[in-house]
Amino acid sequence: MNNFDLHTPTRILFGKGALSSLRENIPADARILITYGGGSVKKTGVLDQVLTALDGLNVQTFGGIEPNPAYETLMKAVEVVKKENITFLLAVGGGSVLDGTKFIAAAAQYQDGVDPWEILETWGSNIKGALPLGSVLTLPATGSESNNGAVVSRRTTGDKRAFMSPHVQPLFAVLDPVYTYTLPARQVANGVVDAFIHTVEQYITYPVNAKVQDRFAEGLLLTLKEEGPVALKEPENYDVRANIMWAATMALNGLIGAGVPQDWATHMLGHELTAMHGLDHGQTLAIVLPALLNEKREQKRAKLLQYAERVWNITEGSEDARIDAAIDATRQFFESMGIPTHLSDYGLDGSTIPALLSKLEEHGMTNLGEHQDITLEVSRRIYEAAR
Ligand code: NAP
Ligand code: FE
Repeated sequence: MNNFDLHTPTRILFGKGALSSLRENIPADARILITYGGGSVKKTGVLDQVLTALDGLNVQTFGGIEPNPAYETLMKAVEVVKKENITFLLAVGGGSVLDGTKFIAAAAQYQDGVDPWEILETWGSNIKGALPLGSVLTLPATGSESNNGAVVSRRTTGDKRAFMSPHVQPLFAVLDPVYTYTLPARQVANGVVDAFIHTVEQYITYPVNAKVQDRFAEGLLLTLKEEGPVALKEPENYDVRANIMWAATMALNGLIGAGVPQDWATHMLGHELTAMHGLDHGQTLAIVLPALLNEKREQKRAKLLQYAERVWNITEGSEDARIDAAIDATRQFFESMGIPTHLSDYGLDGSTIPALLSKLEEHGMTNLGEHQDITLEVSRRIYEAAR
């Protein structure tokens, strides 16, 4: 096991009715800005419940944060924050609202005279402070509710980039599985696949004898593969929703990634697909991962075999046959959730692969993966294989 420094200070308020603890977690004198997305939280009534829970406090709202939150929209919120002297941000929605709110929190306190887009160009390394934030999560997927990362897109330039900073670690997350009953099937599937692949990014690398992290990761993968399909069939099954919600949080709160190598190439290749073609985050990952696992099967051999046995119960046949079967099972799982796994399924013929590679290069993504050996040429082969 490698050395690590783990600090995950987000308070998790989990369960049916967890919103009742919201108020006591926000300073009574705060000037609060509630951020939300395209309106799902209005339709489902969650926003009203939050407003009621905060009745009497100083509360304003900012809606319209889109999936794959746009820098252009977020900068409008930054103006509101400055004009209204906001002191606390409360994200109500999915990962996009949360990530966008993290950007708003940091951008509002960014160095005077510097365009906050710089945050995305420097992986957040120049962030010196941010407004405090918390969240009421409605879509289990990203883990953003209890980590310090965020992904922001810039529509005018076709960029989708990530940043990390301890300053944007949420103070708390209200996780009420009941809020996820209203998710459309496509978002249930996106969320399960995203959480599954977050786990894989930190698990299918090379062994460092981290038994605890491995077995936590396997527990998450088994849970997601078992509960994902049930959530589609039984949207109001509380226990299923609760297990998915907790699995998604645990998949990216630092725990399983502590002391182990991490890959993240699937995410980086996926981000370019979203930026260029508007595919959902989960869809891009389901396209890239099977091709990437096949491409990197030698370097990942030991963990692929462990994954085959412990997650898919594949124990028969040669090593290569077991690895093939595990990759195939993974693909079938995504497809069974309703997420196709080839570019062609989304009407893409591969003709933009050179442009995708140019974007990767522009973003410095030329040495990806746990061995930093996914060069542009390897990325090209992965995109090609995903056609
Ligand atoms: P999302 O983009 O936040 O939401 C997708 C859609 O689901 C939206 O249209 C939203 O509608 C709707 N929705 C959310 N909750 C709902 C509910 N309870 N009922 C009905 N509809 C609901 O999806 P996401 O997968 O959570 O976030 C994706 C983003 O997170 C991507 O940009 C991705 O790159 C990023 N990401 C971040 C991390 C991280 O660690 N920070 C990790 C992985 C991915 P409304 O807009 O109307 O609310
Ligand atoms: Fe993700």
